[in-house]
Formats: sequence, C-alpha cells, structure tokens
Amino acid sequence: MSTAAILSAPVASAPDDPGAGRTADGLTLTFAQAPAEIAESARTGHCRRPVLLKGSIRAVDLATGELATMYSTETERDGVLPVACGNRREAVCSPCSAVYKRDARQLVRAGLLGGKGIPGTVTGHPCVFATVTAPSFGPVHSSRKRGNTVLPCRPRRDHKDRRCPHGRDISCPLRHSDSDPRLGRALCPDCYDYDTAVLFNARAADLWRRFTAYLPRHLARRAGLSIKALRGLAAVRYVKVAEYQARGVVHSHAVIRLDAVGQDFQPPPAPFTADLLADSVRDAVQACRPRGVRLAGRPTGHPDLRHRAGHRRASRPPRRRAARHRPRAICTIRRQLHRQVRDQIARTHLDCRPGR
Ligand SMILES: [Zn+2]
Ligand SMILES: [Zn+2]
Ligand SMILES: [Zn+2]
Repeated sequence: MSTAAILSAPVASAPDDPGAGRTADGLTLTFAQAPAEIAESARTGHCRRPVLLKGSIRAVDLATGELATMYSTETERDGVLPVACGNRREAVCSPCSAVYKRDARQLVRAGLLGGKGIPGTVTGHPCVFATVTAPSFGPVHSSRKRGNTVLPCRPRRDHKDRRCPHGRDISCPLRHSDSDPRLGRALCPDCYDYDTAVLFNARAADLWRRFTAYLPRHLARRAGLSIKALRGLAAVRYVKVAEYQARGVVHSHAVIRLDAVGQDFQPPPAPFTADLLADSVRDAVQACRPRGVRLAGRPTGHPDLRHRAGHRRASRPPRRRAARHRPRAICTIRRQLHRQVRDQIARTHLDCRPGR
C-alpha cells in the first residue's frame, strides 16, 4: 500500500487546468511517483512558474539540402519543455530569485577580491561606496542605532505643546525593533507628502540614469580635464542596488570604482583618487533633477549622500586605449569595503528596482 505524498513545488503544468491529482498549489503523488516529479522539477531549479515551451528545432544539411528535425518538445513529458522563469522577485519565484541573488553575490565578490577574470589588484583602485537617499517627505516612524543601542524614534520634550498643523503629536519616544510594523509609517498622514514620494519613486530609475551620465562630467571637471581627455584615461565602473526603505521610497547603494580605460582592469592614473571620485559623486548626485515634473517645489535629487572612500596611488602608468567611458555595471571595490557591501547585498532584495 502506498502512501500519498505532497509536493509543494508545482510541476510544469498549465495552472488553469491542474488535472487529475493536481492542485493549484501542488501535486498529490504516491511515493513511487515522487522521484520522477522531483527530477522533473529539478530541471528548472524547482522554479515555481516555469515557462512551458512548445516547438521544434530543425536544421538543413548543407550537403544534401535535407531538412531534419533536431529536437522537438514532443519528446518531452506532456509535449512541453519547462524552462525556469528567471524572475528576480522573491514574491514571484523564490527559487529563481535565490539563484539570481547568489549570482549577484558572486559577481560582487569577484569584484572585491578578484577572480572570475578580474585580477586581485583591483582592490587598490579608487573606489566609493555611496548611498543615495530621497529627501524627507514628512516625519515617519524610524529606527536608528548608535552601536547596538536602538535610539528613540522621534523624541520631543515639548511634544505636548508642539503639534503639526493638523493638531497631531508628531513625536514618538518608542524604540522600534526592526520588525515593528509602524516603521516607515507617517506620524501625520496629512502632513506626509505622498504625492511627491510616489513621483520620486517613479523618477528613481531616471535619476540614476542621469547620475551615471553626469558623473564622468563632474569627474573630468574636478580633474581639470575635458570629457574627451577623461575618456582616454579612466573608466567608471559600478554596481548598484536599489531597494525600498521602510517608508516605501526607493534609495540606492552603489559601489563605484575607477579603472584605466581598457578591459584589463588596470588602475587609473595618479590624478584620479578616491577623494576626487567621492567629490565627483557628490556633485553628480546634487545635479540630478528629474525633467518635466516639478515636485511640489522640492528638490528631487539625492541630497543625502553618504560615502566611504579610500584610495591608493596607481602603481603603474595607465594604458591608454580606445575610449570606453560609459560606466558599466561591473563591480569592483576595495577590500576594506567588502564586508559592508557583502552584508548589504545579503540584506537587500536585489529585485526591487522600480520600473523593472
Ligand atoms: Zn522561476
Ligand atoms: Zn515611532
Ligand atoms: Zn499633520
């Protein structure tokens, strides 16, 4: 007598028609059937929403002109080939998002420590770890720490007398834990500028695009070079993570590194230092403004820029090659920044980019 087992991972089946023994959430199987189903699910990395492909691959023999079928999904079970959806959002497909996170982590790690084609010498390149945050749209519950001590949210000695224009107390003496559902909520919903916050999120991707365009210009200006000369000397490379803060506003963390032009990861020439890069990042962030919409008279750049930087003078002369000026999403940072970024990547949902 066989005992039924429940597989939680859906198999490659049409969700609208689960079929006998199938449910929308899983599949009821005997123990004899389970290994085959598990093996089938493993083909897609246990993707929760596999894409079902149907078709064939045919090829022409150039010698004879014969058209032959090389592969057909008819040979697969149910006549379809399941392929992992590859979605980065954990809420959509946790197995695929986990693969993406691991891949991203390896990418960042290679940039930090070398490996996977990147030399270990990149740890000496000028590099900045920058966080760009939206302006305040109104007071919200928040959790700040000094060391391991959680500070009071928004203490006010005169909270009995001091009210917002709507008569509400906008102080909060509590020390919120990380799991407190009040974190990010507005202390006065009428004071909080929701419209501008929504517009800011809508513009976040554009702001970042502008930032990457502006950064080389500010870098060239601070180095006393023309943009053309900069393109012949240095290349900006970065990796960026966008995430939602508790208040629901997008902010970004980026590791930005300077290389010499070329693909061999050589250090940039001496005029380019981490301090110069940090100042240029700050300039570029301040210069970012969305086009078209004026958001309630507020500046919509990233006024809050925190960075940590270090630098080491280039030990080799730069190799001048063809200009490759546009920043590219290749990560490399200094060794001492490794832990910060690694922890950040571990905490961050890499799939939270707005508009993606
Ligand atoms: Zn998937
Ligand atoms: Zn609070
Ligand atoms: Zn108010």
